[in-house]
Amino acid sequence: MSYAVRGITKNGAFRIFATDTKDLVEEARKRHRTTPTATAALGRALTAAALLSLDLKTGRVMLQINGGGPLGEILAEADAEGNVRGLVQRPNIHLTPQKGKLLVGQAVGKEGFLSVTRDLGLKEPYQGAVKLISGEIAEDLSYYLTVSEQIPSAVALGVFVDTDNSVQAAGGFLIQRLPAASDEIIEATERVLQNLPPITTLLREGLSPEEILKRIFGPEEVEILEKRPLAYRCRCSRERVERALVALGPEEIKALIAKGEPAEITCDFCGEKYLFTPEELEGLLAQIEIKRRRELDA
Ligand SMILES: [Zn+2]
Repeated sequence: MSYAVRGITKNGAFRIFATDTKDLVEEARKRHRTTPTATAALGRALTAAALLSLDLKTGRVMLQINGGGPLGEILAEADAEGNVRGLVQRPNIHLTPQKGKLLVGQAVGKEGFLSVTRDLGLKEPYQGAVKLISGEIAEDLSYYLTVSEQIPSAVALGVFVDTDNSVQAAGGFLIQRLPAASDEIIEATERVLQNLPPITTLLREGLSPEEILKRIFGPEEVEILEKRPLAYRCRCSRERVERALVALGPEEIKALIAKGEPAEITCDFCGEKYLFTPEELEGLLAQIEIKRRRELDA
């Protein structure tokens, strides 16, 4: 089961987050039928969104990456309840790995932006963006957090794709410096991080998110404050799709009815298909008409 932990170091120097996202990234791979390159890129973005969502008590966080590379746009979203979903514009793109490494940065591209939106259910969502540095996503996110949100952060994200294209390991960590951190502690931590094996190596060795944090800071320093289950789960429903259709307006719905066959609407995030017969579409048209009249009466 995918899950994430949130905590602090007992010396008060860092806020620490880590996650194992193998199951949810594998679910994303199946739903979007991604190639290994696309699985790694989408999986890193989903893992990043999951890590950022650990701060939320309500609402959701959305990550948008558009680097101009062959994969196109990547969206990833996670909410306070541990639901994670996402999509990659061109899931069928695959670049030949080099030296055993999937070419995520090249596939994402770096001519573009990474943006983060936190929707806490208030009037205005909070949004920030930075130019991409490498398209590798972890580096870009740490740059975003450090520069745009002004919280010095270290981010690791990793997805290891097996020879049968399934996800063998996925996860990441996020470390954020607190004002109490001394130069000495910061330097020592930087040294540890520089010598740390890739996150997928640690996960494939069987280390849990808690154990990865203990490996970085020492078992005595880590205080876990919360453990949160995560799953690939979409927020779409027939009702939401109906609302989206109504929002398209009467002309679009009439065009669908004119085809004389059921309209199939597919959710981009999860692949769920919603069918609407011409009769049901007529019903939606009637709803729009009733609403319009009410507005005229008011
Ligand atoms: Zn959906």
